This record gives sequence, structure tokens and C-alpha cells, in this order.
Amino acid sequence: MAAQIVVVGGGVGGVVAANRLALLAPDDVQITLVDATGIHTYQQGWLYVPFGEVQPKQLQKRLKSLVYDRVQVVTKPVTSIDLDNRTVHLNGESLAYDFLVLATGCEPNPTEISGLAEGAHHFHTADGAMKLREALANFESGTIVVGVGGLPYKCPPSPIEFVCLLHEHLARKGIRNKVELIYATPLPRVFHIEPLVPIFEERFERFGIRLVPFFTLETFDPALQKAISLDGTELKADLFVLVPPHCGVECVRKLGIGDAKGFIPTDRHTLQVQGQERVYAVGDCTNLTTPKAATAAQRQALIVAENIVAQITGKDLRRYNGQVGCVIEVGEGEATVASFDYDNPPHPPKPSKALFRQKRGMLRLYWQIVPPALG
Ligand SMILES: Cc1cc2nc3c(=O)[nH]c(=O)nc-3n(C[C@H](O)[C@H](O)[C@H](O)COP(=O)(O)OP(=O)(O)OC[C@H]3O[C@@H](n4cnc5c(N)ncnc54)[C@H](O)[C@@H]3O)c2cc1C
Repeated sequence: MAAQIVVVGGGVGGVVAANRLALLAPDDVQITLVDATGIHTYQQGWLYVPFGEVQPKQLQKRLKSLVYDRVQVVTKPVTSIDLDNRTVHLNGESLAYDFLVLATGCEPNPTEISGLAEGAHHFHTADGAMKLREALANFESGTIVVGVGGLPYKCPPSPIEFVCLLHEHLARKGIRNKVELIYATPLPRVFHIEPLVPIFEERFERFGIRLVPFFTLETFDPALQKAISLDGTELKADLFVLVPPHCGVECVRKLGIGDAKGFIPTDRHTLQVQGQERVYAVGDCTNLTTPKAATAAQRQALIVAENIVAQITGKDLRRYNGQVGCVIEVGEGEATVASFDYDNPPHPPKPSKALFRQKRGMLRLYWQIVPPALG
């Protein structure tokens, strides 16, 4: 009987894996893509929503419009997965598989820190970004703390990009001189990837953004608008934008194969789920040390599709080398890029307008470049 491949999750990892399989797998192989919403979201664009530059609707397309004809799309949430019997359970339906790809992403979990959900804003969901847009529209003066509310989270440089864009937004609004901007992070310096530090430090200094390092958020007091760190340091502000810690999605947490936060132990080279030869995981749902980034999910998905086809046709598996490449906005219409892998650190270039245009261009070009999975 023909092999059945089920891909769970229609984000970057899932759609690229399904489409690459459609291009490479023998004709009789059946490919099913299951997603809870049936919608694919270009989440990177949420960065621009709080500034009114983009509407969440512009960042979405129906999955069915993005996949090749041979990919069957099922729009239902996966409720559980039976690894022993190779079956995926949906609401009122089940799907048997020979190979499974988990691409369920991860989600902000602000309730992990007392008071965070009630008192602080973020831009890591469409809803959060829209609420923040409203808060910024009404903001006239005072202190704004931007930063990291907990680890891990999607797109590590995103709060740095946000604070640089916020500086410019406030300047455009004519109120930058009435606002103190603070960036708080649990790290000992502005960012964990050393070669990017001088670039970010230079911007912070020039934009007048005060860095508060070693700030590991322990609790948040919404009534007093106060963030309290593990060592008792307090930050008071009129507006907080703190990226919440993220966790794996519910169906993965229920699977019992995730770590304490519901991330899936995944072989860093073959991308097989540990102990499961025919189950792969890609993107934000994994416990890989690569950043939770779309470019990582995309590259992993291309390799996973090739590895499943290799298993079906009796060939050797390809190895993922940790490759990821993120274009990072740093204000003044400029961006830099960090491309690296497990063995090679990034050498970010001087920020340029060309890289900025590349990043903004993806808002339009993403749909033609990434989902088709051409390689
Ligand atoms: C503000 C922001 C800025 C970012 N900027 C960048 C950037 O500049 N560069 C970069 O590379 N990355 C960036 N990222 C990160 C990037 O968006 C994610 O890493 C990427 O979307 C991960 O892809 P994924 O396929 O693993 O998960 P997702 O894209 O999150 O997709 C997961 C899918 O799984 C589905 N799903 C979940 N649970 C179930 C279930 N039970 N049943 C069925 N389906 C389910 C969801 O509906 C969703 O479609 C940014 C993220 C944010 C939030």
C-alpha cells in the first residue's frame, strides 16, 4: 500500500515540508497537511502591526491556496497522537500515517509569570499586536520598558528590532523627548550572539535607549505597573512591552514526549524525534538550540521532506547543519543579517538600506518565495 505522510501544522515548517514532499515523493505517496485554522500566517509581520504599518489580515492566506494539488488539507485541530499505533486523532476523525512531521510551532505563555498577562503588552500574536497598537496610539509621555519576559521565545532579536522601531515611531509622533525608553533582558549584555552586540549597542547609545541587563523577570504587578526581577530589582513604567516565555502547543504537551515546556526532543542532524524513526519535527516545536525562526523552520522542513523520501526509497538521510539566517532591523531604514550554523558564528555586515529593503520586501515576496518550497 502507498505510504501515507501526515504533516501537522500549516505554518512555515509544515507548508514547506508538505510542498517539498509533493515535489519529491513518488506519485503514489499520499500527503495530508492538518492545521487547526486552515490559515497560514506570516508572523514576522506582527512586528509592524503596533506601528499601524500593517494589518494582521494582510499577513494571512488560506492554506489551500498555498499548497500543490496533491497535498490534501484538513482543517481541524489535532487533539492527540498515538505514536504506538501511528495514528493522529482530530476532532471526530483519525488519520493513520507511515511518516509523521510535527510542525506545530509554539505559543506565548504569559501566565507562566504572575501578573504578566494582565499588565504587560506584547506583539507575538496578532491580537497582542493590535492591543499594543491601541496602547501606543494613546501614549503621550512617560517611561516604556521593552524587553524579554522569559525564555524561550520566537525570533530572539525581535524585541531589539521593536525598541529601535519604537524610538522612530515616537520621534515621528513628535514625543520622543517626552519618553524614556528602557530595554530589559535577562542576559548580561544586549544580545547573546557576540558579533551582533556592537551593532545593537551603537544603536541603543545613539537612540538614547537605556539597557538593563541581568533582569530575569520573576513577577509583574499590574496594579502598580511594576516588573520585579529574581534578584529583587524593580522597574516601574507607564507601558511595558515584554515578550512572554513561549511553550509547546497543547497536543504536543499531551503527547508526553516533550520536555518540561512542551518542546519535542529532536535529533539536531536528522530531525527525527528521539526514539521515533518515522516521526520528524521541524521549527518552533522542537527543542533544537537553533533560534525559533522561520528561516530555520524552512531549512529543516526541506531536509525532513528529503529524508522521508530517502527512507521510502532506501537512500541515506541528509543532515541539518543548524543553518539559519535572520535579517534584523536596527532603525534608520537599515538592517543587518545574522547567518550561522552549528559550527560557524555569524559575521553580521554593517547595517544597510539594501538589507532593510530585503526585509520589508518579504512582506510581499514571502508568498512566492517560501511556501512553494523550491529549495
Ligand atoms: C513578531 C515576530 C517576528 C518574527 N520575525 C522573524 C524574522 O525576522 N525572521 C525569522 O526567520 N523568523 C521570525 N519570527 C519567527 C517565525 O515566525 C517562527 O519561527 C515561525 O513561524 C515558526 O514556524 P513553525 O512552522 O515552526 O510554526 P508556526 O508558523 O507557528 O506554525 C504552527 C502551525 O501549527 C498549527 N497548530 C498548532 N497546534 C495545532 C494542532 N493542535 N492541530 C493542528 N494544527 C496546529 C498552527 O495553527 C500553525 O499554523 C518572528 C516571529 C514573531 C512572532
